[in-house]
Amino acid sequence: MVNRSGAREGAGAGRSVPAAPRSRAYPEAVDRLIERLADLPGIGRRSAERLAFHLLKSDEAAAMALARAIADVKRTVRHCSVCSNFAEGDPCAICTDATRDRSTVLVVEQPKDLIALEQTGMYKGLYHVLMGRLSPLDGIGPEELTAGDLLARVDDPAKNPGGVPIREVVLGLNPTLEGDGTALYLAEELHKRSVAVSRLARGLPSGSQLEYANKAVLADAILGRQKVE
Ligand SMILES: [Zn+2]
Repeated sequence: MVNRSGAREGAGAGRSVPAAPRSRAYPEAVDRLIERLADLPGIGRRSAERLAFHLLKSDEAAAMALARAIADVKRTVRHCSVCSNFAEGDPCAICTDATRDRSTVLVVEQPKDLIALEQTGMYKGLYHVLMGRLSPLDGIGPEELTAGDLLARVDDPAKNPGGVPIREVVLGLNPTLEGDGTALYLAEELHKRSVAVSRLARGLPSGSQLEYANKAVLADAILGRQKVE
């Protein structure tokens, strides 16, 4: 089902083509709902119709709960003014937690990367969420990200929680072409400053087998080999 709708609604196809054969059979409010749903990422017109019909069929309380959840999230959730993570308070719970190591900042692309790292329970420093990665072809430069805020935090301890100077920046970008490009840009900027720069290790995932790993993963694993103590 996913494949079928995915194929029909593939990027660029669905919405931008003026829905030619669209009948006006739906009441206007239903049409409006379908159009709003179809504006969401990954939702084409067919999926939007399916969701709209589901909402029409579901009882009023469930539908209103969804509407309220959307309204609440837009009203109460903001970006943390320090690290740009989603937060209900400002600064966020991580930035205000005085038990964390405020001299270390781990840079990630998206809030969901931060959540994944937090769930390991292995990291006790602070974060900085870039809200994307450099992508020159899509017109995304450093100004479109929160890179300037990160450099300001490094330059001016007053902009880091507790006024603590940042001693190490850990680059936790995705190991993709654009993630690597972004890490390179940040490393160059950070090396102009007196701060240590590191990046997350990459290589073989735990529980994997050498014979199934691709060449890039194996190359990273060889380059990033570690001393056995
Ligand atoms: Zn924060």
